[in-house]
Amino acid sequence: MSEVARTPTPILRLQNVKRGFGSGATRIEVILGASMEVSAGEMVALIGPSGSGKSTLLQICGLLEPAEAGKIEIAGHDAGAMSDGERTAVRRSTIGFVYQYHHLLPEFSALENIVIPQMIAGTRRRAAEARAHELLAQVGLSQRERHRPAELSGGEQQRVAIARALANRPALLLADEPTGNLDPHTAGDVFAVLAKLVHELGLAALIATHNLDLAGRMDRTITIRNGELGHIAGTVSSRASFT
Ligand code: ADP
Ligand code: MG
Repeated sequence: MSEVARTPTPILRLQNVKRGFGSGATRIEVILGASMEVSAGEMVALIGPSGSGKSTLLQICGLLEPAEAGKIEIAGHDAGAMSDGERTAVRRSTIGFVYQYHHLLPEFSALENIVIPQMIAGTRRRAAEARAHELLAQVGLSQRERHRPAELSGGEQQRVAIARALANRPALLLADEPTGNLDPHTAGDVFAVLAKLVHELGLAALIATHNLDLAGRMDRTITIRNGELGHIAGTVSSRASFT
């Protein structure tokens, strides 16, 4: 890789982002002023106790929830300046999302689960199928293309969900406890697939997890607690005390 390719490019940038829910006496402040960057090729863990705002922050980063204050930039584009249509376009072209539950369509094969969203976004079937074959190979599931979700193991289902998230060639991958439903061994396997793809494809990845072992294998860690972000350089997240 050249020196130029190694220069960090911020794909995700948040400046003083705030978000709460409700109003009056029932109002809760969840994100008090979050500032952070995730660059191309970087895999960043987001850890914090249950209810600390990890999902909320990821939804904001994915342009699925609005911030109440602050600035969000995706690949240099200011989310605050976008129309609804532009936000949808940026989400489709730039962002991939993986959730704790796979959310695959139960009545369709692994292959179709990756083909259909591409076709909805305007890709022709032949090209979408070619991309789906390629992605399923990358996550090690070439032999499972015709299987439906119920015929796949939990780890395989999550690998299909990862392949689907990458179908649009996103620059930013957001994952919300992607291994949270898996046993430790399978979680490690799925994480390894995810990490390999993030680094091979040079993605910016922000991954919420409760698994401190996996957080420790990422490039760095961001903590969230009482609405505040903390930044831990390097792979020292085992110092944190979240479970
Ligand atoms: P985490 O993912 O870290 O468990 P969440 O982001 O899901 O945390 O939630 C953070 C806080 O925001 C919680 O107190 C939760 O109840 C609250 N919250 C999240 N979404 C909503 C919503 N749509 N309406 C009201 N409160 C919400
Ligand atoms: Mg959550």
